Amino acid sequence: MYARYLYHEKGLRKVSIIKELNSFMDKNYPHYNPVDWSISLEKYANKAGKYPLCECRGVWITENELKTIEEIHDKVLERLAFTLLCLGKFRNFRNPNNNSWVTYSNGEIYSMACINTTAFEKDIKFSKLKELGLIEYAKKVNNLNIQVLYIDDTSKNKLFISDFRKLGYEWRLYKGEKYIRCSDCEILIKKKNNNQRYCKDCSNIVRNERQKNIMRERRKKC
Ligand SMILES: [Zn+2]
Repeated sequence: MYARYLYHEKGLRKVSIIKELNSFMDKNYPHYNPVDWSISLEKYANKAGKYPLCECRGVWITENELKTIEEIHDKVLERLAFTLLCLGKFRNFRNPNNNSWVTYSNGEIYSMACINTTAFEKDIKFSKLKELGLIEYAKKVNNLNIQVLYIDDTSKNKLFISDFRKLGYEWRLYKGEKYIRCSDCEILIKKKNNNQRYCKDCSNIVRNERQKNIMRERRKKC
């Protein structure tokens, strides 16, 4: 829970979350041994962004909402629109008076949408969605306040989204592209081969764990 709080409210990411958890444990846990805990803390840090901080387990995306996005006919804009939709619905859940407004930094939105692009292109893509009548915005210094205009809770629930880390990939998965969830932290990853089970971070942890076990066995034999 503390890791989630650091992720969502303090804006920390993996390395800083681990550092903060370490110092928290050091202060509050008797006889704390960072070595014993390193794998667990890394796992918590990896999963911190998976669930929103509140009790919301996810959001339902409806038939009409999916149709609106599919009608954009532009893969990148579709991912951006889908991301904004999920964020808008999550914000509405958290605050019923929210009126579908979304406030995140451009960087955060594009990272969740899994779109790599320049700052200039980011602005253009928002303008395109505005031209299509899908969003409205009010610009504040560094943040963009975006109102999502295509939320339609009256139509049938179709797709449940509970993981907000890679919303762009959730859209690609929905569109039939090959993505799998990491067997450990459950983040979506592009499927490259049939043996693939873990994301990059988790496969590193698994490999380290294996190496440590091998060393331990060797030491026992000695
Ligand atoms: Zn993973």
